[in-house]
Amino acid sequence: RVNRTDFMSALDEVHPAFGVSEEELQQVIQNGIIHYDAAVDELLKSGQLFVEQVRSSTRTPLVSILLHGPPGSGKTALGASIAQASQYPFIKLISPDNMVGFSESAKVTAITKVFSDSYKSPLSVVVVDNIERLIDWTPMGARFSNAVLQTLLVLFSRRPPKGRRLLIIATSSLRPILTDLGLSETFDSEMRVPPISNLKALERVLREVELFPSGDERRRALRMLEDAGLGSSKDQLSSKLQIGVKKLLSIIEMARQEPENVAERLAGALMGLGM
Ligand code: ATP
Ligand code: MG
Repeated sequence: RVNRTDFMSALDEVHPAFGVSEEELQQVIQNGIIHYDAAVDELLKSGQLFVEQVRSSTRTPLVSILLHGPPGSGKTALGASIAQASQYPFIKLISPDNMVGFSESAKVTAITKVFSDSYKSPLSVVVVDNIERLIDWTPMGARFSNAVLQTLLVLFSRRPPKGRRLLIIATSSLRPILTDLGLSETFDSEMRVPPISNLKALERVLREVELFPSGDERRRALRMLEDAGLGSSKDQLSSKLQIGVKKLLSIIEMARQEPENVAERLAGALMGLGM
C-alpha cells in the first residue's frame, strides 16, 4: 500500500536533474536543524521572507543576503535549509569543500558556471558558502585570490536576464574583512547567526539529541555546568557559555561514546573549551 509519505518521498527522489543539488544540501544539514532558541526560528523566518520576495516581487529580480557569525554557529546549515525550503527549481551550493585542489581559474570557472546555469531558471537560489575560504583568505599579510573576489563582486551584483529571478545566500565567519574587500555593500541584508550562549538553549539541544536517558540526568548535568560557572539561564549577561551548535553536537557525540559519567564528561569537555 502506498501512503502519503511514500508518495512525498517519491516526489523528493524525482527532483528535476536540471537544478537542485539535493544531496549536497542534505549533506550540510546532516544533523538537522534544532530549534534551540527563538533566534533560530527568526533566522529561518527572515530567510523565508526573502524567498517569498524573490518569488513574488517583479521589482527585485536579485536579492542577496549574508549569514555571518562565529565558526560553527550553523551558518551553512541554515543557508542550505532556507534554500531547500524555497522549493525553487534551481538550488545550488557553491562550497570551498567541493573545490579542494582547484586552481584559481578552475574556481572562477566553476563559480561562474553555477550562476550562468541559474540564469536559465525562472527562479533560483545559490548558496555561496564560506566566502573567506572561497577566496583563499589568509590573515597573514591579508592575502587572497583577487580573481575569485572579482568574480564574486561581479556575480553578486549582476542582474539576472529578463524574467529570471535569483536569491543569493552567502555565508562568512569573518564579517569584518568583507567590508575591506568591498563585498559588504553588495548584500541587501545581513543576518547574524549567534553561538549558543545560555543554558536554556543548551538544554534544548541536549533534550533534542537525547543524550541523557532521563530528564533527571539532564538536569543534573546542567546543574553541574551552572555550578562550574557557565552561567544560568536567568542571568544571560554573566554567561560564559559561547559555543557553536556544530562544536556542541560533536562534543555531545563524544560524550555519548561511553555510558559512564556522561554528565561529567560533557561538563569537562565544555569547560575545557576555556569558557
Ligand atoms: P563553519 O564556521 O565551520 O563554516 P557553520 O557555522 O557553517 O560552521 P554548520 O556547518 O552549518 O556551521 O554546522 C552546523 C551543524 O549543526 C550542522 O550539522 C547542522 O545540521 C546542525 N544544527 C543543528 N541545529 C542547528 C541550527 N539550529 N542551526 C544550524 N545548524 C544546526
Ligand atoms: Mg559553514
